[in-house]
Amino acid sequence: MAELVTVVPSVALAVYAHPDDADVGCGGTLALWAARGSEVHLVVCTDGGRGTRDVGTPPEDLAARRSEELAAAAQIVGLHSHRVLGAADGELDRRAGFVAELVALVRSLQPDVVLGHDPTAVFFGQDYFNHRDHRAAGWALLDALSPSAALPHYFPEAGPPHQVSTVYLSGTLEPDVWVDISETVEVKASAVECHRSQFADAEAGWAGDAVRRRAAEEGRRAGVAHAEGFRRLRLGG
Ligand SMILES: [Zn+2]
Repeated sequence: MAELVTVVPSVALAVYAHPDDADVGCGGTLALWAARGSEVHLVVCTDGGRGTRDVGTPPEDLAARRSEELAAAAQIVGLHSHRVLGAADGELDRRAGFVAELVALVRSLQPDVVLGHDPTAVFFGQDYFNHRDHRAAGWALLDALSPSAALPHYFPEAGPPHQVSTVYLSGTLEPDVWVDISETVEVKASAVECHRSQFADAEAGWAGDAVRRRAAEEGRRAGVAHAEGFRRLRLGG
């Protein structure tokens, strides 16, 4: 029987590689928790500047556009805060001090729940393999959460230790819990549609339809109308 997560965290932090990733991966969950009173923060690691096939769009122009798209989506989802670390798109694994940066954020925001990419997910059928920034962000986040953020002798300059209790990894091949997003699937669809630069050639509404279809698939696995699936890690605390 699929396990549904019903606990609403008081503070949640989502850490994702690109400006659209959180909305695609867990936008329904973030919107649900925000609506129920959670303080939800989002950290976007790269500027997303290379996410186009259009050679005529300079990366800095695309990064600026994606920053606006992100701000619009954040408002729709109801985020308490969002910030862009600004790493070069595609080079997240080369960002110096990245784990320390995440440790400092975790220690200052003190989330009880953290969400991010499942870095072990590589091949999604024959059509897609996971972006290197997603893998890099996922591994760095896990390294930051345990043991680093929780123990005082790791990165002592990054603030007092903080123990995150639960991690939810999206974009996973091995979901073991689901969040019922039936109430917020339309919010998620609207948020994903804000990232227009990522499907500029598609017809309007395509992204929203893809969101509804995917959420309904996960909903069937979870026994509800619409869901998001996660790999859950319980770290204690
Ligand atoms: Zn991405």
